[in-house]
Amino acid sequence: MAIPPLGLYLHVPFCAAICNYCNFNRGLLDADLKRRYVASLVREIRAENAGLPSTVLRPGKARAIPAPARATPAPARATLGRAADTIYFGGGTPSLLDPAEIAGAIQACREAFEVEPGAEVTMEANPETVTPDRLAAYRAAGVNRLSFGVQSFRDIELHRLGRLHDAARARAAVADARAAGFDNLSLDLMLWLPGQSRDDVGTSVEELIALYPEHASLYLLEIYPNAPLEDEMARAGWSQAPDDDAADMYLDAMERLESAGYEQYEISNVARPGRRSRHNLKYWTDGEWRGFGCGAHSTVGHVRWNNVASASEYVSRLEHDVSPVAARRELSPREQLEEALFMELRLSDGVRLERVREHYGVDVWQQWGERLAPFEEAGLLEHDDHRLRLTRRGMLLANDVMSAFLEAGSTVK
Ligand code: SF4
Repeated sequence: MAIPPLGLYLHVPFCAAICNYCNFNRGLLDADLKRRYVASLVREIRAENAGLPSTVLRPGKARAIPAPARATPAPARATLGRAADTIYFGGGTPSLLDPAEIAGAIQACREAFEVEPGAEVTMEANPETVTPDRLAAYRAAGVNRLSFGVQSFRDIELHRLGRLHDAARARAAVADARAAGFDNLSLDLMLWLPGQSRDDVGTSVEELIALYPEHASLYLLEIYPNAPLEDEMARAGWSQAPDDDAADMYLDAMERLESAGYEQYEISNVARPGRRSRHNLKYWTDGEWRGFGCGAHSTVGHVRWNNVASASEYVSRLEHDVSPVAARRELSPREQLEEALFMELRLSDGVRLERVREHYGVDVWQQWGERLAPFEEAGLLEHDDHRLRLTRRGMLLANDVMSAFLEAGSTVK
């Protein structure tokens, strides 16, 4: 059987300003660090290439976080000669990289992997960072899909989140991207923002639909402990709507998108037919991917590893020819099964029961039917001989349903 192609993830940790709700792996843009980081990223990718043996990196030394065991082969060797059909620049704000830097990273991927001719090449972009010229240059560099972090089409909400763009700038960025030849766009929206009502969500969703992107992602805002936004909300007297309203915001938004011709294919994602994110589907369907850059994770075979989180430590390691890998471990059969179930259950198509039986030797309903039945009775879950899937209401309580698969004492990751 042919080995499925890999996905390639390239992390860009720089932002022009730090949004008050964000807990991603990112930092403020520093021009010198960015230049060295891009060179390091290219160096890490090229280390995959058997044709460049001098660049294969030495295993890192243990520091605060454990380095890979010297006795095990360098993770890079695991993907030698593999085909790849997606490249994804995520961040941070990848559109702070110049088109020439993006082109260099894509070229390094092409040298190190068999990147398929029709590969999906996505770059996350913030609306305020793009101009018609830059967009044309990204397109020429090989990017064929853009994912814009729009978050809201209401200026007051964008201001509260500390975003640098307004709604007009987001609309202009989409128009400029179309003019530059991008026929595959995704827009992110956030719901349950401070002070946001159901009608306000409806306004943003309708504005998104008017732009008719091929794909959209909708996330409910989660305010992590000690986020600057928490203090600002307390000072300004803003609050989030009650939980029931958040559920209605999500259900309304999905219904509006469905009426406009989008298919919901994952808890947070919708697409026009044929425009699902091929890259992200690898995470949800037991696929394999190589991640490059600080904090990036890779999963190949049953092995998972991740790079050091700090951008400066990452650069320093690469500049000294030392592997950036911070930790590496083999997933146990139990972990592989749990992960396959959690990830596929996120999809509207649900868990492929026959595949789980063939691949993991487990009959899902026989093993967990008793614990899953109450969720089915409550209308959160449905199943037939082939699939086990969450209903849309079940998607709002996905973690509760997933906990049925866990051994006592574990929690949903
Ligand atoms: S632009 Fe994105 S990654 Fe950067 S701080 Fe804002 S939310 Fe975080």
